[in-house]
Amino acid sequence: MEKLIKPKIAIYDFTDCEGCEVAIISLREKLLELENRLNIVDWRLAQEKKEQGPFLVSIIEGTPITPDEIETLKWLRENSTYIFALGACASLAGIPGIVAKEEREKFYKQIYGENYKPVGIDAVPLSAYVKVDFSIHGCPVNPDEVVRIIEELLAGKKPAYRGCSVCFECKLAGNPCRLVFGKPCLGPIGQGGCNAICVSGGSPCYACFGQREDANIPALIKILQNLTSREEIERYFTMFYKHMPEWQEKAKELLK
Ligand code: SF4
Ligand code: SF4
Ligand code: SF4
Repeated sequence: MEKLIKPKIAIYDFTDCEGCEVAIISLREKLLELENRLNIVDWRLAQEKKEQGPFLVSIIEGTPITPDEIETLKWLRENSTYIFALGACASLAGIPGIVAKEEREKFYKQIYGENYKPVGIDAVPLSAYVKVDFSIHGCPVNPDEVVRIIEELLAGKKPAYRGCSVCFECKLAGNPCRLVFGKPCLGPIGQGGCNAICVSGGSPCYACFGQREDANIPALIKILQNLTSREEIERYFTMFYKHMPEWQEKAKELLK
């Protein structure tokens, strides 16, 4: 019988907490089922096997902050048909991107001592260095979404985002709306995919699953301005969007 040639996949990570890869590992049997149809040939965190590309897709978590990481990212781009950003660090610069440039020196000294010479640069999304074909958003990603997106790719389809906002999923979960009770939330502009997990747990949504293409940022800012201060609104939008041009151009102008 002819041996099935399975597409080669690589999973890489740069600077981050590795929580999104742990989310993939948490798939357990579902991951093994997926491996019947693909061949993960390079995944430092989860396996010893390491084979050369080229890869159908490189799924990359984290953000590159050293020259070596940037070179590896460029090499992966050259050797992969598709690059998927895995998680908010890779797609939006995420948590590593929050740090204020002017504070970095101070934090380095506090943590590593006076003599430490940092080699790291600012955390920015992968798309600042290479073309990214699709972002599997989230902090962390929803493992079931990872399966759905990879299955769409294996079926020859262009992966798509869920066709709803976080608010839609929040309503399905039966949560009372925070905005009605005077509490900020970015759910209306946030791409669905997490089943509104934070709001269900009592926290606001910071839209870590990315902004919807049709996001009406001016309308949401108007609502938030009636609820809270400019500083607080900025804090919400810069949690995951500090490095995104959409935020820089639109939202900051609106808050002037
Ligand atoms: S997106 Fe969040 S969970 Fe994923 S690696 Fe970054 S910080 Fe960790
Ligand atoms: S609490 Fe947030 S996510 Fe839920 S419906 Fe209200 S604005 Fe939308
Ligand atoms: S509720 Fe918002 S912040 Fe929380 S996981 Fe979903 S998109 Fe991210």
